[in-house]
Amino acid sequence: MLLEPDVKFIKEIESLGGDTLKKCFQCATCSVACPISPDNKPFPRKEMIAASWGLKDRVVKNADIWLCHNCGDCSTLCPRGAKPGDVLAALRMYAIKEYAFPKKLGEMVSDPSKLPILLAIPFIIFLIVGMVCNMFVDPNWLCFSPGGDEIVHSHFFNSWLVDLIFVPLSLCVVAVFARGGYQFLNDIHQNAVLEGKTDKKELDLLGIAQAFPKVVLKILKHEKFDQCGENQSRSTPHMLVLFGFIGLFIVTSIFFVVLYGFQTHGPYSQFNPVKWLANISGIALVMGGLVMLKERISQDTSKQISTYKDWSLIGLVLALGLSGLLTEMTRLGELAALSYGLYYIHLVFVFCLFAYLPFSKLAHLFYRTLAMTYSEYANRQ
Ligand code: SF4
Ligand code: SF4
Repeated sequence: MLLEPDVKFIKEIESLGGDTLKKCFQCATCSVACPISPDNKPFPRKEMIAASWGLKDRVVKNADIWLCHNCGDCSTLCPRGAKPGDVLAALRMYAIKEYAFPKKLGEMVSDPSKLPILLAIPFIIFLIVGMVCNMFVDPNWLCFSPGGDEIVHSHFFNSWLVDLIFVPLSLCVVAVFARGGYQFLNDIHQNAVLEGKTDKKELDLLGIAQAFPKVVLKILKHEKFDQCGENQSRSTPHMLVLFGFIGLFIVTSIFFVVLYGFQTHGPYSQFNPVKWLANISGIALVMGGLVMLKERISQDTSKQISTYKDWSLIGLVLALGLSGLLTEMTRLGELAALSYGLYYIHLVFVFCLFAYLPFSKLAHLFYRTLAMTYSEYANRQ
């Protein structure tokens, strides 16, 4: 077999946090130490070898890099300090870029120097659309006086305008994930056949769909996280953030249906159970983000490092949660100008969440779920 190493790929993995890759001397301690790795063709040793040889297709189109939950047990025990946990995390970030489209946007999301541009895009879009469509529906919104009219954010930025931006944006994101997900499933299946990880020759999408509910349950219960030794404490903040997002997704969907189905728009009473769910989810998001931040700051960098994508995800989680909660608190405190301004900032962050989702670390939610579902389907436990 003629090996054709992709040197550019090796360099990129090193720049994404896998700079210890070449230290590996293939002892296999990591594959023995990993609490999640299956007995048949275990990871991460084989990925370390393939990545250090520059065999891009063997690692990027490999479901196993997604089965890893970055617990760090392997990195702690590696006798060479090769940090396989970090290398696998770098491979996942590379894979996210490979399966997303357009590639240029993926490069921008990975580049810290482009962050101001990425934030400026939604800021300007909302400004232009708002101005063109008479954003200031209520021209007196800045002159709000305590005890006067109720603060209604849709008076500042009309709800249908917000949805005019977010509905097409969401559809684009779904299309990007559908395209990437289909390609991803085919690739990981071919890799599994090639490496002898499955005896299923053809990819059966119905079989994948049947495996899905079992995997969702495992993800919600954080079963894999709980098998970790080194970083088991990550399970709780991860769960808070995950349930926070799920709760806010449910709330947004209900408010959308109520607005367009029953022509009823907010603000809703604080006694409304959907409002409770919104508040609890927002608090869960902020709490989870703060604990993640604390853990990242205090982590031992000789065992595990944090990359730009780790920090930017925590930053986005906190920005979303805090801007949402502060928007509501200032509304209840009758601080009109501040509340409208915070609402605008909140919309900018929500746009960032959606528009950059297929390229950010948050895309792991999609690809890891697919990889775990495939592994369940392929009986790779
Ligand atoms: S990463 Fe470390 S533990 Fe794993 S095979 Fe390489 S040297 Fe051994
Ligand atoms: S980081 Fe944890 S889950 Fe990932 S390969 Fe290492 S031991 Fe296994």
